[in-house]
Amino acid sequence: MTDDFDLVVLGGGSGGIAAARRGASYGARVALVECARLGGTCVNVGCVPKKVMWHASQIADMLHDAPGYGFPAALADATQRHDWAALRTRRERYIERLNGIYAANLDKDGVELVRAHGALAGPRDILAGGRRLRAARTLVATGGRPASLPVPGAELAIDSNGFFALDACPRRVAIVGAGYIAVELAGVLRGLGAEVDVLVRGDRLLRHFDAMVSEALLAACTDSGIRVHFHARVKAIAKGAGALDATLDDGTTLAVDCVLLATGRVPRTADCGLEAAGVALGAKGHVVVDAWQETNVAGIAAVGDVTPAPELTPVAIAAGRRWADRVFGGMQDRRLDYENIPSVVFTHPPIGTVGLTEDAARARFGAGVKAYTSRFRALYYGVLEHKRESRVKLVCAGPEERVVGVHVVGTGADELLQGFAVAVRMGATKRDFDDTVAIHPTSAEELVTLR
Ligand code: FAD
Ligand code: NDP
Repeated sequence: MTDDFDLVVLGGGSGGIAAARRGASYGARVALVECARLGGTCVNVGCVPKKVMWHASQIADMLHDAPGYGFPAALADATQRHDWAALRTRRERYIERLNGIYAANLDKDGVELVRAHGALAGPRDILAGGRRLRAARTLVATGGRPASLPVPGAELAIDSNGFFALDACPRRVAIVGAGYIAVELAGVLRGLGAEVDVLVRGDRLLRHFDAMVSEALLAACTDSGIRVHFHARVKAIAKGAGALDATLDDGTTLAVDCVLLATGRVPRTADCGLEAAGVALGAKGHVVVDAWQETNVAGIAAVGDVTPAPELTPVAIAAGRRWADRVFGGMQDRRLDYENIPSVVFTHPPIGTVGLTEDAARARFGAGVKAYTSRFRALYYGVLEHKRESRVKLVCAGPEERVVGVHVVGTGADELLQGFAVAVRMGATKRDFDDTVAIHPTSAEELVTLR
């Protein structure tokens, strides 16, 4: 059987669904091919379940603080009786609801969902579920998967997918990596009672972030009891007397119940027939795209984690929607500008960042860069014995002091950043920040009162 479509989307994650629905909204005949659960990484094994676990860990933090606010001391002890399995069941139920909502939305928009593995059989043909789909345009949005570690015993470790399959909180965990997933899951696991060792091959957490962020995060991790080991490379993982032994290259061994690999993600291109279609891949296996998301093969485009773009859900969605706006909606200049993409790391406390780090700004703009910083204790900690520090930094460039970077570590950083990202995108200057009346008492006000 042959089916003709204006657009076939390979992959029903954040980018694929967004592009398919936007394309259909312009009247295109669209099929979306998905081999697993709708919603992709974000909904099933990424942002959504991660944020649920982050909230659980935040609640544990607040229960610890509750006696300082006049609540019974027993509340602090309640954190030791957290029911991980019960939360997992509720979390999965929520995700199943989201899977259903995604399917209903595709149906409502007239997108044909093909629940099968799909592979290009040529520039215009996709084989999926025993059908041959013919497409005027194909969008590859197959995402990525966790990278492994090339050491003996790596198969004994889990990755972020395995983390979401856990039905109890492991007692002792070694986490390999220093990126988003390592630091986020370290915070969740520590907050819910695990002993956590983070094994970092370099000398910084989140090394691509502003140095202030790495420094503040290390202090917060140490304060919460997370042990961070720098220059620590895992040489082997083996079954030990207890559960697992992770041996480092200096010969030391950590006895843990679980080793969690958070060593980056690799694009999912292997089984998609990209070679058959002649699509060029980059050195790290990503689909090479131009500024319009188009590959080297006419009619085949790609968005999201399968491309070298920042691996973030809103990036995949924005690229997919803008691509569909251009191709099917007649908006000829529409494309995603990859500058100034804001991002939040859901640590404890959270981190919000947009624009350039101070080092990157100096490299780009030279001596005309000025950084404004502040360290403070949020009012929340005023009545508590155990205080946490917040830190903010504005990076400004040129004589007009255009704000080219905003970095925040502290309670509320996650929610406050979005508005500041708008300001940075609009080219706001330090003077614009200064002229904005503060909202008091908040942490956000620190950003408009810096001197
Ligand atoms: P995906 O969402 O991965 O979707 C790809 C889809 O394609 C999958 O459903 C897959 O099954 C399907 N597929 C692949 N090959 C085929 C094939 N041959 N045939 C049919 N279907 C196929 N981002 C944020 O912005 N905020 C966060 O807080 C955040 N937290 C994260 C936490 C974790 C633990 C992880 C792992 C990621 C997180 N991310 C977060 C990143 C975010 O999830 C991804 O950037 C986003 O999901 C990428 O979307 P995508 O559409 O490119 O790919
Ligand atoms: P990251 O790229 O953020 O970090 C990977 C980490 O693994 C780095 O610290 C890297 O070290 C380290 N690493 C890589 N290879 C090895 C190795 N062989 N041995 C030891 N360490 C190694 O990837 P993540 O897996 O944490 O997350 C994947 C992506 O998902 C993120 O980049 C982010 O875009 C997205 N994500 C977004 C979130 C959010 O928006 N809040 C949350 C979670 C994920 P080095 O620094 O030395 O290279």
